[in-house]
Amino acid sequence: MKSPDSPRKILVTDFDGTLTQVDFFQAVLERLLGDDMSIWHSYCQGKITHFEALAGYYQQIRLSEISLKSLVGELGFPPQFSLLLDQLRFAHWDLVIASAGCEWYIQQLIDAQNLKCPPTIHANKGSYSKEFGLIMQLPKDSPHYDPNIGISKTSVVKSHQGLNQWVAFAGDGPTDLAPALLVEPHLRFAKGSLARLLSEKGESFVPFDRWEEIPFHLIRYHSK
Ligand SMILES: [Mg+2]
Repeated sequence: MKSPDSPRKILVTDFDGTLTQVDFFQAVLERLLGDDMSIWHSYCQGKITHFEALAGYYQQIRLSEISLKSLVGELGFPPQFSLLLDQLRFAHWDLVIASAGCEWYIQQLIDAQNLKCPPTIHANKGSYSKEFGLIMQLPKDSPHYDPNIGISKTSVVKSHQGLNQWVAFAGDGPTDLAPALLVEPHLRFAKGSLARLLSEKGESFVPFDRWEEIPFHLIRYHSK
């Protein structure tokens, strides 16, 4: 049983490439849009925002909704997610998803789990039609609104930090660097370009390959 002075424990996780094995953006780019990097190059040159780059690609999708949902089902979402979430909660860890991607596909994968108590999701709003593609909208009403990426993962992490609160963070990309640096190294989980960026800075972290490793690690080493 949880005692009154037990720390509150929150795992904030990125979604694309972290909770899933495959990034929705990469899947869309490689399989649907012919690997056209021109919009991305405009983002890298600072001409458009990260949000505008993703939205620019997503509105070009012209698959049937069923086909796009099928693609979402192939992103490599953890098959044992429901069980892992229960185990995290049993160890008094809550899960929060913070993503610069789109709630449209995140919600689908979470809904498919039939969870009694789903995790909180902070992401860009969106709707899909074959005629107009996936239209993303900036979440201007979110307390974590960021005009460049939509949702500030840094703001999400900060909102959970405080006295007697443990915050872990997991990510895989450049937009995860700032929030990752806010948490203690032993609660900082990284893969991909986030792992490379942290290494270049001489910052330590817990490496992972599949998201499933993170709940096991937290339950084994950080439950009290
Ligand atoms: Mg990611």
